[in-house]
Amino acid sequence: MPTDLLIVRGSIVLQGAAQHPHAARRLREAFSGIEWHESGEGATVVLADEPGLPEGAFRIRAEGGETGTAPRVAIGGGPFSGVIYGVEELIAHATATDRLEVLAGTSEDAPGLAYRTFWTWDHSTNWELSQVGHQEIGVFNPYGKPPSGFLRDYRRVVDFCSRNRIAAVVIYGFLRDPHGGIEAAQELCRYASERGVRILPGIAIGSYGGCYWEGEHRFNLATWLRANPQHAATLEKGVGFQIADLAFPLWFPRSDYTLSACPSAPETMAWMEEGVAWLAETFDIGGINVEAGDYGVCGCDRCVARRANEAEAARRVDAYGDSWSHTDMADNFPRLYRTAKAIRDDLWLYSEIQWDNLLDPVAHDAQRRLPHGGIYQHTTNRTYWDRIRRELTSEYVASLPTQPNVLRCQFACQWNGDERTERYALNARVFADMARLCAARGMQGLTVWGEPSPYHATVELSYLAFARFSWDASLTWERFVAEDVAPLLGGAEAAAEFIRIAEELDANQVLPLERLGAMRDLTMAHRAGDEAGRRWLTLEDQVARRMYMGA
Ligand SMILES: [Zn+2]
Repeated sequence: MPTDLLIVRGSIVLQGAAQHPHAARRLREAFSGIEWHESGEGATVVLADEPGLPEGAFRIRAEGGETGTAPRVAIGGGPFSGVIYGVEELIAHATATDRLEVLAGTSEDAPGLAYRTFWTWDHSTNWELSQVGHQEIGVFNPYGKPPSGFLRDYRRVVDFCSRNRIAAVVIYGFLRDPHGGIEAAQELCRYASERGVRILPGIAIGSYGGCYWEGEHRFNLATWLRANPQHAATLEKGVGFQIADLAFPLWFPRSDYTLSACPSAPETMAWMEEGVAWLAETFDIGGINVEAGDYGVCGCDRCVARRANEAEAARRVDAYGDSWSHTDMADNFPRLYRTAKAIRDDLWLYSEIQWDNLLDPVAHDAQRRLPHGGIYQHTTNRTYWDRIRRELTSEYVASLPTQPNVLRCQFACQWNGDERTERYALNARVFADMARLCAARGMQGLTVWGEPSPYHATVELSYLAFARFSWDASLTWERFVAEDVAPLLGGAEAAAEFIRIAEELDANQVLPLERLGAMRDLTMAHRAGDEAGRRWLTLEDQVARRMYMGA
């Protein structure tokens, strides 16, 4: 390993800025004391794609600088995000704004898990805190923020992902008239692509609004069903789903949001296929997250006959009943996959395999038809995660009929737990454990909820754990705390104290006022005018709110 630092100051020629505008922008911002030029002689920084590297990987070569030779730093990157991640690596290790400090020789890094994704709903993604209309749960919600709110929230999500190597953001509610419709969605995709972040609209086959969640549009489900009422699904039971690991029942009022179409009608699939093609052609998306819908299946004769297989019948008796169907997914995903890939070969196409069944045979016959190259996403609630930890083996993952596979965490968010929410809990250990298990067992990615703002230090640390451990599974908890957490909270001892308090708070829905008072005193001692103090204030606020509520 090279240990010498190449230090470059003064004036630098920056090559490749036109092809890598965001990487160039970040260099100029972070090293504002350097005089950057687009051409000329002397010290040079080169930004370039490096064929052969995996997506997001980067290689930094630093040479020259001895007497008579101009220093040259080449930042080569794999597709889409590699050059940006390479530049962020330099920025992360900078100690001053007037000089580049780069390890002499060649250094490189690459992602451990290829697929590192935030999952979100538009209405409950609250990253711009200075606006009205925040919501924290729900799947059939109106949008309550000002129309500008969508871009204001998601630009911040993208900035965080770009800097922390989180590759993609799934958005349900991507297209909605009250937050700017097509134009705002196009602008978000442009903004994200430039920063090396994939935007993945979330869609569902014949449900969740089709390809256009809300608005008068030909690819909006309610609009289409008004013109084609004969293709409406005949739901076998009431609309909705329940989650065993959530302490309270969910309520789903009927509205345009809860409509669904029959997936056995050829017209429905033709319409979905057109919608997917339109998405891939109209927006600079990074992929699409496809599910079969989870709030009820169609009970018409054609659908019942199509779903008549053993695995579906076995599942029907469990807690989820017929909220969703693997057969529907396996029958219909391949067509949408082919349509999208024909337009953009590099799209990430997630296929949701639904909840708590990674270890059980689910419509395997149907799933054998699912194309290799889709990203097969297995969602887990907290109780099932305990089972995955005990039982999942790499041999089993390798034998799955779908490849590649990723895990999606459906807890550490609003959808599991007690009457509080896990959105603001310190979920860092869970994300670290999940990322490491994925890497050890051959799962190729991890998806977690990314809706609350990292203004809350507990949330920030959780996201950082997700980012770091999914990039590098060899990372240890101790090293993460020492390198990533301690500098943010005022040192190693402060970090340990913060984690202790946050985890005690999370583990106990009720605490004696006396204990809360002691916690508040501990957090108050860290009040300061710097960013570490601001982070502690967010924990103090959690404690103070609990005291005000009386437990
Ligand atoms: Zn049907």
